[in-house]
Amino acid sequence: MAKIAINITTGSLQQNEMIVGIDLGTTNSLVAIIHPESKKPVALKEHNSSSLVPSVIHFGNAGDLVVGNEAKQYLVSDPAHTIFSAKRLMGKTYKDLGDHTASFAYKVIDDEGSLVKVQVDDKFYSPVDLSSLILKELKTQAEHILKTTVSKAVITVPAYFNDAQRQATRDAGRLAGLDVLRIINEPTAASLAYGFGIDKEEVKTIAVYDLGGGTFDISILTINSGIFEVLSTNGDTFLGGDDLDMAIVNFWMSQNNFSGNENEVKQQLRLKAEEAKKYLSGNDIFTAEHNNQKISITKTEFEEIIQPIIEKTISCCANALKDSGLAKKEIDEVIMVGGSTRTPLVKQMVSGFFGKQVNDTVNPDEVVALGAAIQADILAGNTKDLLLLDITPLSLGLETMGGLMDVLLPRNSKIPAKAARQYTTYKDGQSGMKIAVYQGERDMVQDNRQLAAFNLSGIPAMPAGLPKVEVSFLINTDGILVVKAKELRSGIEQAIQVKPQYELTDEDVEKMLLDSMQNAEKDIAHRALVEAKTEAEQLLETTEKFIQKNITGLTAQELNETSLAMQALQLSLQMEDKNLIQTKTEELNNISRPYAERIMDTAISKSMRGESVNKF
Ligand code: AMP
Repeated sequence: MAKIAINITTGSLQQNEMIVGIDLGTTNSLVAIIHPESKKPVALKEHNSSSLVPSVIHFGNAGDLVVGNEAKQYLVSDPAHTIFSAKRLMGKTYKDLGDHTASFAYKVIDDEGSLVKVQVDDKFYSPVDLSSLILKELKTQAEHILKTTVSKAVITVPAYFNDAQRQATRDAGRLAGLDVLRIINEPTAASLAYGFGIDKEEVKTIAVYDLGGGTFDISILTINSGIFEVLSTNGDTFLGGDDLDMAIVNFWMSQNNFSGNENEVKQQLRLKAEEAKKYLSGNDIFTAEHNNQKISITKTEFEEIIQPIIEKTISCCANALKDSGLAKKEIDEVIMVGGSTRTPLVKQMVSGFFGKQVNDTVNPDEVVALGAAIQADILAGNTKDLLLLDITPLSLGLETMGGLMDVLLPRNSKIPAKAARQYTTYKDGQSGMKIAVYQGERDMVQDNRQLAAFNLSGIPAMPAGLPKVEVSFLINTDGILVVKAKELRSGIEQAIQVKPQYELTDEDVEKMLLDSMQNAEKDIAHRALVEAKTEAEQLLETTEKFIQKNITGLTAQELNETSLAMQALQLSLQMEDKNLIQTKTEELNNISRPYAERIMDTAISKSMRGESVNKF
């Protein structure tokens, strides 16, 4: 495997550059880095303060704006100018938001089917603008703490974000003056922070349970040799710690007679409720005063009122599990993310559902950002044992009909890498298929280097074209290529490991690339001729068989026409003239297609009834 050189002038990476990891959250955001001395991921914070920056923006009268803790103070006093949860608006139209528009205390504008905008006085802001303001604040704070410029970042997004939402996040980064090197899934980042995926050999299935302030999501993912694959995701973008707070508020309202406007009382009780909730994560009873009235709640009472809310998250877990096609016992780890997973009943119910102790060893507020920092470090080329930046020096592919090279993983694919393609048989009743793996850039395998070859045998007899043989290439972080071939209808499978480097020196690689460039024109012409010949030969063989068996009784005219067309095609093959071969193939095809289709239909229906296709 080759290491890629990285150059900032071209926008690509430079070794050892500080790249930060950013968790751009709905409620809170934060920045993390790999500590230069301890080499461990750490969240950035000023002395004695929290690493969390509330994802809140306040627009002041004089056009001034503040972001974070300072802005949060205006949530109650100046709601129309204080924007929270902008992440929920990312890539959404007004219609997408449905009833939830009511939960925003600021003005969300219906832009006639276009993406929503937020109106503050006479100004309009897109969710991208708003997110960029949060990112700008994070960048400024990080630069202040690190005393260096921060211009490159890895940003996390929920696994369920679609392309538009990911693109919007990237754009927000760019607007904030950040080069967003990668957008990664929050559950992937969390798994990285828990140390999964660092062990190159590891194959694990993980459930990431993420209950934050306002959103819940559950993702089931597999990690195979450093490749993270999200199998399923589920959740509720309007379910989180805020609902637990509201449950306490409602409990107090039902227990007491508070004087004053109901909505105002609710707002005032909210902050107390959050305090109570946090306190009850480690204590049995919370007491306080509200306007000289004593209020209290015990842990048992709290757990009773929040149980239905947590049940909802458990239903989401059940759905995600169902979609992943896995059984509970197949989940190796359940990891906890988000501040609300500190509530003991949450852990207890999630453990109960999955039938195993949850893993809550990493700070749930910081875990996603810490994972993003690990990913950033890998991109910076500092984490040597995770070779995510390694690339394949030459294309890897398979030999197909006529000795052609079919590339599955092109040169410069980042590893670990994965690719799969389906092939089929070209002869009726063909029971084996040779899988020959090659490396190189030339169109014909004979000009490339063979790495391995094996035979997939035992394919049940089927008409040509019916078996589905999926060949997959997986290069793990060690650069070891594993080639698997599986016939999907019967499940027959075979695999082989191919060692890395293949004893190629840099000069070898250079020579092979140069060769491929010098021969490109010749190769293309040769490839086209081989393809035309292969197609012609296959067609001749099928038609020949059809005439010999003469199953459906051809008319004399049909027979005559077919035979003449076959002779013409054979002649063109001897002349090795690609264009002529293609023309004659087309002619024979037009005559024989109806028969070929008929024989295929009969063969399939007979084989379904259990009769051997060899009879045909
Ligand atoms: P996040 O969105 O991940 O930052 O999570 C924020 C949520 O976690 C808020 O609803 C907080 O009230 C909640 N939270 C923070 N600390 C605790 C705690 N000790 N116990 C329960 N919930 C907490």
